[in-house]
Amino acid sequence: MNSYDLIIVGAGITGKATALRLARLGLKILHVAPNFDPGIHCNDDLTWDSRIYALSSSSQQLLSDIKVWEAMDHSRIQIVSDMRVFGDSGQAKDEIHFSAYSATIPQLAWIIEAGHIEKTLDAASQFQGNIQRITDTVTDFVSTKENVTVHTQAGQSFSSKLLLAADGAKSPIREKLQIQTPINDYGQTAVVANFECELDHQGTACQWFLDNGEILALLPLPNKKLSMVWSAGVVHAEQLLKLSPETLSTTVMSAALGSVQQRTGSLKMMPPPKSYPLRKMKAERIIAPDHHPRIVLIGDAAHAMHPLAGQGLNLGLRDVATLGQLFENKESFRDIDDPVVLRRYERARHGDTDALLFTTDQLQKLFVNQSGFIKTARNLGMSLVNRSQFLKRQLIQKALS
Ligand SMILES: Cc1cc2nc3c(=O)[nH]c(=O)nc-3n(C[C@H](O)[C@H](O)[C@H](O)COP(=O)(O)OP(=O)(O)OC[C@H]3O[C@@H](n4cnc5c(N)ncnc54)[C@H](O)[C@@H]3O)c2cc1C
Repeated sequence: MNSYDLIIVGAGITGKATALRLARLGLKILHVAPNFDPGIHCNDDLTWDSRIYALSSSSQQLLSDIKVWEAMDHSRIQIVSDMRVFGDSGQAKDEIHFSAYSATIPQLAWIIEAGHIEKTLDAASQFQGNIQRITDTVTDFVSTKENVTVHTQAGQSFSSKLLLAADGAKSPIREKLQIQTPINDYGQTAVVANFECELDHQGTACQWFLDNGEILALLPLPNKKLSMVWSAGVVHAEQLLKLSPETLSTTVMSAALGSVQQRTGSLKMMPPPKSYPLRKMKAERIIAPDHHPRIVLIGDAAHAMHPLAGQGLNLGLRDVATLGQLFENKESFRDIDDPVVLRRYERARHGDTDALLFTTDQLQKLFVNQSGFIKTARNLGMSLVNRSQFLKRQLIQKALS
């Protein structure tokens, strides 16, 4: 007899959203993770989580389907109405400007704190009787023809039909399954921090491809605040992290030949910066490689990418939406652990994941290349794209799905 229909491991946004989505199908879920509390409580104008995400419409739709979007504090969500991407020539013409108005859509994206999303997911799961949470770490699991059993650090054991690994980019479950996962280290670290800015950002997100191959993004936050993601070389990132708040603020202002300051005015850093190593990674399989695959990878456990396009979580939430849809629409004679259903999930996620990983990887490579010819060509390319409304609409459609 199985105690649960499924066990979800990992309490990042993907794991929490998966639990809520699948509980709506009446499935009995055990959710195991060592850290359910996001740690940061974003409830005043001084405390802003430095982990900030640009969410696409597919993510907004999923959060809405699980009744989380409406429950969020919308005064802490910033709509992106414009996006400006600058080349490394320092010339204003080498810029692509995406505008929600020109594309006749209400917004390009939403900018939201990670802690805010997690906190709202936590509140929603309290009202979901089908989810049981256990604060513990999974140390081992055994998969048989009948079920899958997980063992935890505290010495507990639980069984279910299916195990969903939402345990992040270093997924211990993926490692134990020995699923081949090629990793491409970008040799860059993302330094993230929030700033108060002097000038009104008008809902514009900016990204500068700098002439040393680094990428600086400033995303708008409510109340004249900005969130920075500086994808810097590893050594440079360490230097940036050691700077005083005042020096880091002036360093950001003077980046991109001073064009940052032209847009933002003076910047004042809010609480200390954080950093994240950047790598591309894709598991070769996202269901366990055996005849009865009872284990499924989801979110960063299955794929990770450079944040230059702000798409990693969006991709993970599309994994969640797809799995939810497949379970909802499966034939009545199939159960959720039917290998046919799980293979459908693997096939369904392949194209989206590959396309996004390829595009972000190629963009990163294009801009890290220091050859004079490539540099001229890419800046020319940007100004040509900028002149074509058709191309820009195509790019927006792809990026916003
Ligand atoms: C600088 C930066 C900026 C980004 N910006 C964006 C953006 O704008 N838009 C976007 O869409 N994406 C963005 N991303 C990507 C995004 O951060 C990730 O895709 C997302 O956080 C992945 O969530 P996840 O829940 O899959 O994994 P994680 O958040 O890593 O969660 C994994 C969970 O598993 C738990 N766990 C691990 N091992 C065990 C175990 N043995 N037992 C139990 N639990 C375990 C962990 O404790 C954790 O709770 C960005 C990434 C970076 C680095």
